[in-house]
Amino acid sequence: MKRDSGRYRRDSMIRSLKGKGIRDARVLAAMQRIPRHIFVPGTLKSQAYSEHALPIGAEQTISQPYIVARTTEWLQVGSQDSVLEIGTGSGYHTSVLALLARRVFSLERIPELARGAIDRIREMGFDNVKIQIFDGTFGWSDVGPFDRILVTAGAPKTPKPLLDQLKVGGRLVLPEGDRDRQKLILYERTPEALIRTEGESVAFVPLIGRHGW
Ligand code: SAM
Repeated sequence: MKRDSGRYRRDSMIRSLKGKGIRDARVLAAMQRIPRHIFVPGTLKSQAYSEHALPIGAEQTISQPYIVARTTEWLQVGSQDSVLEIGTGSGYHTSVLALLARRVFSLERIPELARGAIDRIREMGFDNVKIQIFDGTFGWSDVGPFDRILVTAGAPKTPKPLLDQLKVGGRLVLPEGDRDRQKLILYERTPEALIRTEGESVAFVPLIGRHGW
């Protein structure tokens, strides 16, 4: 019988994520299910499950597995949540979110990436994902507010429209800082306040747009 090498490489990726401190069983199970090699260009497929970011075209990258796991874990996505993702890229992280949430809305500014992601999401059979080509720094007010918001590109400061579209009880995770180095930031909106927590150092591609770079 032919061995499912994708399955084998996913198992090894999950072991490595656990070793790096990822504990959320739902996040690990979602990443175990999504075939990451589908989201990586042909020549790089053999590296799809290794612990680094990879180019996906248009000078953009698919984030390394640890960063996908860490940001998703911090977001604490519930099964009834409506999630906004800024920066669809390959659609890999979108697919992980689609397994965890009720609805996922994802914005990508580069048309060729958005189109590729739409094809892959269709191929995966998800019917709870909507992707649009748009400057995500404006958010998506027509379908908001959201329980969870994830930004997968580095912002100079948190775009105000995104904070405005975060529900009470909501959580927003984004990288914020310089063009080449940022800190992961978590915002939690309570009935009384907006709580900001700083996390680890990261290096994302820049968030380009009206409320970004
Ligand atoms: N999460 C993606 C994946 O799984 O492949 C990788 C995202 S990549 C690190 C960041 C993405 O954010 C890029 O595709 C980039 O084009 C996109 N981006 C940057 N600024 C944006 C903006 N203002 N609105 C929407 N997308 C943006």
